Amino acid sequence: MSRFHSSLSRRDFMKALGITGAGIGTAAAASTTFKDIDGMITSGAAPKKPWWVKEADKATVEFDWSQIERFDARKVMNSPMGPPQWVSTEEWANVEKVAADNQANWIKEGKPGYTLRDHALYRGAMGGEGSPGVTSYTWLGPQKSPTPEKLGTTAWQGTPEENTAMLRSALRFFGAADIGVVELDENVKKLVYTYPRVAPYKRYEFEAVDKGYEDDEKWVIPSTKKLYVVSIVSQSSIDGYTTTPSWIQRAASDNTVRLNSGILAATQEFLRTLGYQGLAGHERNAIGPAPAFATLAGLGELCRNTQVLTPDYGLMVRSVRLITDLPLAPTKPIDAGIWRFCHDCAKCAEACVSQAIPHEKEPSWDIPGGWNNPGKKVWYVNAVKCQSTRNMLTRDCGLCMTACVYTKKDYAGIHKVVKGTISSTGVFNSFFKNMDDFFGYGTEFGPNYNPLLGNFNENADDFWTSPIPQFGVNSMIGLQNR
Ligand code: SF4
Ligand code: SF4
Repeated sequence: MSRFHSSLSRRDFMKALGITGAGIGTAAAASTTFKDIDGMITSGAAPKKPWWVKEADKATVEFDWSQIERFDARKVMNSPMGPPQWVSTEEWANVEKVAADNQANWIKEGKPGYTLRDHALYRGAMGGEGSPGVTSYTWLGPQKSPTPEKLGTTAWQGTPEENTAMLRSALRFFGAADIGVVELDENVKKLVYTYPRVAPYKRYEFEAVDKGYEDDEKWVIPSTKKLYVVSIVSQSSIDGYTTTPSWIQRAASDNTVRLNSGILAATQEFLRTLGYQGLAGHERNAIGPAPAFATLAGLGELCRNTQVLTPDYGLMVRSVRLITDLPLAPTKPIDAGIWRFCHDCAKCAEACVSQAIPHEKEPSWDIPGGWNNPGKKVWYVNAVKCQSTRNMLTRDCGLCMTACVYTKKDYAGIHKVVKGTISSTGVFNSFFKNMDDFFGYGTEFGPNYNPLLGNFNENADDFWTSPIPQFGVNSMIGLQNR
């Protein structure tokens, strides 16, 4: 039950703020272009983004491409090869033991969020990861659909703009929330990993060939033609995430991972029948870092917990990528005030049980460890702290994602007013953060849950009696904004 939207109208909300449309407009007039408060609520806006999301020539986070080199993803902490590089054998063995004990004990004891049915939900959501036809990511896709030659015709021809619009329609139809596109130019090539995070540890290689392929040693990306990276975001269930920390939250994450594998396979077959290639990687985090590609493609802004924070869905997304030779019109980065807001907020850092997210107002160029690729000025998360805690919480956490001010159900549309204001002025940032702490905006969530200290999310069981939308998400969110 919401503590906020059910009893407060928009008018009451503005009165409570102590600022009328004119008042807030006065504050915003000093910053950037601003539309009145009713416009914020009712605007159908641009066909592609809510009106308060501005396109920008570069991402709001600072990149220094001269510092960025292709990165070996076997170094990251959530690679099976990561922890031994950054944590002592004894320390990691202890983490694994605590994780195994917690899993067994919490199921037996029926702890909230960690019962057998909660665990079964997670196992079902994963779909037996790697199982053919269920959760199976592949470099070239199923390769079953007919090519244009087989159909007695030639490849699809459209302008890049038409093709991007066509691809967005197809992917929305397949289940994605949104897509963004970047050209695979010399800078963006530096974001393609050298080796992947999980086995098989074949190299990603650029070769002077027309068609991508794979063999026992490498995944090959053609270097003779113009290519594009399509970033895809799909929604995760906020109903699942608000049970965090729990197996249900993990299920909410892996439900999206399972759907994403199907979306990628469908897209690969769609492209094949159009006469083009789709190279998608062999696992959920393949090709390169999701936040970087999604941020450059304008699906959101990089945020304090170094994920991509989307204007429409907050942090309730999982992102995958695909490389194609279908001529596309790249999408631009965005500025919705999110990056600026993170400077004044730090709510995720306060919610983090391992204190892995920096609290400082300003981001930094300095990396905390070799598990990071340098070259961006961000709030680097201490991945050793985060991953150890996630493991001990039996594989995931999600407290930061759920605590985020942008991760809201937003039934009343009031949150749109807040987001619109944030995009125009930073004057109210601290106020909105404090107000979010107080009201919760419809997300029943306690940031102090830490099962490692015996504090379980007592509301987790409510998931099993709440009405759950299909696939666990509200598929109308983006449309209502547009
Ligand atoms: S997932 Fe959990 S431990 Fe990791 S940064 Fe987020 S809140 Fe902290
Ligand atoms: S909780 Fe606040 S600081 Fe953290 S990602 Fe969300 S908006 Fe940014």
